Amino acid sequence: MALQDDWQGSFRQNQANDQSPRTPNELPLWVQRQDLAEADMPYTHSLLHGSFIDWQEQTEGFPWTPDYPILLLHPDGTTVAVAGTGADDKAIVPWHWGEETLGPTAASIALGTCRPTLVRADEHVSPSIRSFDSIAVPVFTRTSGIPCAALACLLPAGTAQAGELKLLQAAALHFRSCLYRRFELLFVKDLLQASHLTAREERRRDLLFDVLRRLNDHIDVENVLAEVFNILEQVYPMCRTDLFLSQDYSSSNEKVKPLAFHQQEMDICWKAFMEGEMREEYEGTRRRIALPLTGKQGVYGVLLLDVSAKDFDDVDLRFVTMLTGGAGTAFEKAKLHEQANTLIGELRLINELTHRLNSSLRLSDTMQFATAELLHIFKADYCFILQLDPLNGHFIVMSTNAPEMTNEKFDKDYGFCGVMLTTKEPIILSDYHSATPVSSHLMDVTQSRSLLASPLLLNGEMIGAVMVTHKLPNHFSYDNYKLLQVLSAHLGLAVSNSSLHAEVRRMVITDNLTGLFARHYLNERIQRKQQKDGYGSLILVDIDHFKKVNDTFGHQIGDAILIQVSTIIRSAIRDTDIAARWGGEELAIYLPKLSLEQTMRVAERIRKRVEEETSPKVTVSCGLSEWTAADDKVSVESLFYRADMALYDAKHKGRNTVAVG
Ligand code: GH3
Ligand code: MG
Ligand code: MG
Repeated sequence: MALQDDWQGSFRQNQANDQSPRTPNELPLWVQRQDLAEADMPYTHSLLHGSFIDWQEQTEGFPWTPDYPILLLHPDGTTVAVAGTGADDKAIVPWHWGEETLGPTAASIALGTCRPTLVRADEHVSPSIRSFDSIAVPVFTRTSGIPCAALACLLPAGTAQAGELKLLQAAALHFRSCLYRRFELLFVKDLLQASHLTAREERRRDLLFDVLRRLNDHIDVENVLAEVFNILEQVYPMCRTDLFLSQDYSSSNEKVKPLAFHQQEMDICWKAFMEGEMREEYEGTRRRIALPLTGKQGVYGVLLLDVSAKDFDDVDLRFVTMLTGGAGTAFEKAKLHEQANTLIGELRLINELTHRLNSSLRLSDTMQFATAELLHIFKADYCFILQLDPLNGHFIVMSTNAPEMTNEKFDKDYGFCGVMLTTKEPIILSDYHSATPVSSHLMDVTQSRSLLASPLLLNGEMIGAVMVTHKLPNHFSYDNYKLLQVLSAHLGLAVSNSSLHAEVRRMVITDNLTGLFARHYLNERIQRKQQKDGYGSLILVDIDHFKKVNDTFGHQIGDAILIQVSTIIRSAIRDTDIAARWGGEELAIYLPKLSLEQTMRVAERIRKRVEEETSPKVTVSCGLSEWTAADDKVSVESLFYRADMALYDAKHKGRNTVAVG
């Protein structure tokens, strides 16, 4: 077999200059024109041998076989095959006419002279064949007519005649037919194989064209990957396929894995990835092929095929190489498309978030909105927004969807907030269980494993933190991490804006000295109450002879007295009552939904406590008024007017007393 393969290989080389058929119509003629050449002779033994066996099968019962040995000789002198009774006679066969001892035989002469030859028994030199006549005829190639073999026969001495020679000539012609039949069969087999390969390649090409078109139709990565696996499964059902991706890309497809460089078995994958070229290795009967998934901007991963070596040839390799080439481009396109979409989404989100954050200046509203948005954006289980209270040195949970954690306080150096206070950097943690850099109450209580956290910074100083968590590990991606960083910058501004706004508002409605509300705020509140409630009352409190207090003890002590009286008032009223500085040393208290009788008791309590508790001791006079929905005219002015009149009365009655208007 090896010899035959050799022959075919060399033969094809020898025929290299031949014109191959250009159209299928020329094929039969082309096959017929093919012939053995002088240069092919060293490789024809096996062809001759096979043809001789064919010939033998067809000539069963030929007159002199199996009675006498019949031989097929190669032009180089070797006996290619022997048939007949004497075939096993070692004395005769192999009959090598090149050896001196045999001397010239019919075959050597026939090949030399290119003519049928008869040598009588007594003319033989070798004693082993002296009892035989030998006859031989050359076999010529069909177009060039050079001898390519000889058929020779031994007959009992004196029996070889011209008739036997003619018969052998006929046999040689028949043998030549057998020879060329086999010879043509080789070509036809070759052609059939080539045509089979072409047909297969054509089918693959069609398939590939279809796949590449479909691949390019997809604009999401997951579909591109599914398409690749699908086609590989169709074409190579027995093939094991894995795709290793370098990017942090989590796919729902179980065949997609991260490209890990530390694993030994990943060696060819690693090489294919680094060099951007196909790498392969054999393991027994298996062939492992690593194909890089390459786009214009780089290598994204490696497709690893594990196939049976014998079922996977160069055509297959070309196919999968082209498939991964197309898949790489489609993957890149889909990835860029996804990235662009993500960016657009992020920009839209940032835009909307900042708009919403700035449209409400109430800190609690803003934070509640941000918490809900962040939970949604990051598909998180929990979200916490914490504010740093630098005075008390702790972080306080301002907003969260974990109700038990609301208003929880942590030492400023504790947990992840503590870490961020030092580093001012965001944190991404894939698994709190397997790697716990610091202990965290928030993570423990919520049984979270994934964490994204970012400091809220204002002018480089940390004013708070935002944290999102998930119960499963590896939940957040690097893209999430970058997005939270961007969002936290906006959140930081919103928090500080809201805080500043709240502070300004507090300042605006608060009296500086006493800490009570300012007059305008009291007016506003009474007005609102009068629109809602059915009744309410007012106490005006005026410190008696305050001028004298100032004159006696100085303004500073006067201020202190004002503060003392204010503190007494604050502690003597309900949370819902509103105490304000009405002006100078006059204070006012509005008591919603309180009857005049009850208000009297409050005023009396205040009057008494001021007398008892102030130092230096002062007294106050109080004027009371009330309103009900049934009044002719309900207004703040009339309420104050009547209270003022009552106060005037109280002063007139000798001070340190309560009067009703
Ligand atoms: P009366 O018992 O009639 O109310 O006498 P009075 O002295 O308290 O009343 P008057 O209206 O004559 O004087 C009010 C004084 O209160 C004048 C002013 O010096 C003082 N005063 C007003 N505001 C303040 C303040 O903010 N601090 C201090 N120390 N004194 C103030
Ligand atoms: Mg006064
Ligand atoms: Mg006074």
